[in-house]
Amino acid sequence: MSDELNDLALELRRHLAWQESDGTRTILRGPKPLVAAPTKAPAPAAAQNVPMPEPRPVPTGPVKTLDEIRQELGDCKRCKLCHGRTQIVFGSGNPKAELVFVGEAPGADEDQQGVPFVGAAGQLLTKMIEAMKFSRDTVYICNVAKCRPPNNRNPEPDEIAACEPFLKAQLATLQPKVIVALGKFAAQTLLRDSTPITRLRGQWRSYEGVPLMPTFHPAYLLRSPSEKKLAWLDLQQVMKRFESP
Ligand code: SF4
Repeated sequence: MSDELNDLALELRRHLAWQESDGTRTILRGPKPLVAAPTKAPAPAAAQNVPMPEPRPVPTGPVKTLDEIRQELGDCKRCKLCHGRTQIVFGSGNPKAELVFVGEAPGADEDQQGVPFVGAAGQLLTKMIEAMKFSRDTVYICNVAKCRPPNNRNPEPDEIAACEPFLKAQLATLQPKVIVALGKFAAQTLLRDSTPITRLRGQWRSYEGVPLMPTFHPAYLLRSPSEKKLAWLDLQQVMKRFESP
């Protein structure tokens, strides 16, 4: 088998692996694109606008290391999410990552383990990352809010505003080549744009000069598996960005 066919077979296996839960299958035409163009962009109920926190200035001063940012966070009690958490979920991955995924907030599994995206949604995210020919060891993963909201409710504007400076500091330190914003909270917070994620997704934007691709949150994809094909289109755009010189 030629190298090209080997690559195609590998890419297909990875893609199907994270689509296996819903039976969604795509139309193969060659190495790219892998999927048929969508005929519509459904509007899930979860994609309602959220109030935007007040804009905050970009942190100034010397860029800190991730360890220094974590130390500054300390045993944080800057917002009410501190009361229900087991531990702060700061972020994990490669401190030199060129690709960073930003999600919403820890869930129960993440709260227990102290690592982002380790529950069911995290397992799907891992498959998505591997389908993109990366691994969790080569990317960095973090959330807008670093403590679990009670009963997995959405983080509130004051909580996002309190925690966001630490996300900004992480991104300033990482200086990734591309950011993938997972879901409405990450996309709307980083972009200061209350446009629904159904319209934000798939469109290149910029965060502090870094290309940012908004896409659906893996937890939403678990609830709406038919949307995985749209998320895959978004991730393919990210892959192309890394392939281009
Ligand atoms: S969510 Fe962020 S700001 Fe709020 S207590 Fe946790 S670490 Fe502090």
